[in-house]
Amino acid sequence: MDTPAFLDRGRPDVPDMVVPRGVTPFHLEGRPVRGRLVRLGALADALLSRHDNAPEVNTLAGKALVLVAGLSSALKFQGSFSLQVKGDGPVSLLAADCTDAGSLRFYARSDDETLPALLGEVSRPSDRDLFGNGYLALTVDQGADMDRHQGIVEIVGDDLAAMATHYFETSEQHACWLMLACERTPEGWRSGGLILERIASEGGVVTDDFDDGARRVSAPEDEDAWETATILARTLTAAELLDDGLPPEKLLNRLFHEESLRVGQPRALAYGCRCSRAKLVDILGRFSEEDLDHMVVEDRIVMTCEFCNVDFRFSREEVGPRSA
Ligand SMILES: [Zn+2]
Repeated sequence: MDTPAFLDRGRPDVPDMVVPRGVTPFHLEGRPVRGRLVRLGALADALLSRHDNAPEVNTLAGKALVLVAGLSSALKFQGSFSLQVKGDGPVSLLAADCTDAGSLRFYARSDDETLPALLGEVSRPSDRDLFGNGYLALTVDQGADMDRHQGIVEIVGDDLAAMATHYFETSEQHACWLMLACERTPEGWRSGGLILERIASEGGVVTDDFDDGARRVSAPEDEDAWETATILARTLTAAELLDDGLPPEKLLNRLFHEESLRVGQPRALAYGCRCSRAKLVDILGRFSEEDLDHMVVEDRIVMTCEFCNVDFRFSREEVGPRSA
């Protein structure tokens, strides 16, 4: 098990931030619908402002963080749940992950030439413009001894929500409806999302577990109930999603008060990188002595964690013997 952040002396100083009601699960009683409201609050700003990315890349990353927070909270697993999008566009890689404890982190790689060129041509590029053609992968990683579960689809759709919807339709054969938003507000970056999933209805009882192999009941009234839920969800605005002053229950009530809304236990989200000196020493130990000698600058080897953007400094001796 990983050492908790506050006990790990090898960890750099990164924000120790927890949002207690980051994910609010809910279901509509007697209807084949369950969902999650995700709001990162000030955590979005803490995560995004840690990196020197263009605002357009932050918007994309903020939505990706909401997506992994929302989807992972619907799964039973121990480890990390990650989203990775790789494309041939100006943002060639976006990786975001969430642990079973709700710890979030991300990393985006954008091109110094093609991104400014695109932004010069298009004032509001779509997520698709930024990614280009490529693929999207969702992975559940439960550690070395456990099976990795990964699903990969081509990038289809204009925005990340549509890409994720396509993923569920093709990989999981599972209807879902998603809205993701991320903007810079006067309080800083904020991101949030609403995820609805169509589930099997079993005599009006809806469990909060991710029931693989659930019966797909396609009664006409189920079809109507799903349709109604998505129509109501479409009335949600980005401003409501990103408003810190609007509590989750109140927002959900606005949307679904006539649909037997049942709100579950909220779940916390936190700032969470899992890098440590020990892990990086382990990575450095795989390089040859000569390579390590070449990495030394001003008597130190510096490694930067791409996720939390923190520099770790090592003496040459710390990572292994020098070459003769
Ligand atoms: Zn890190």
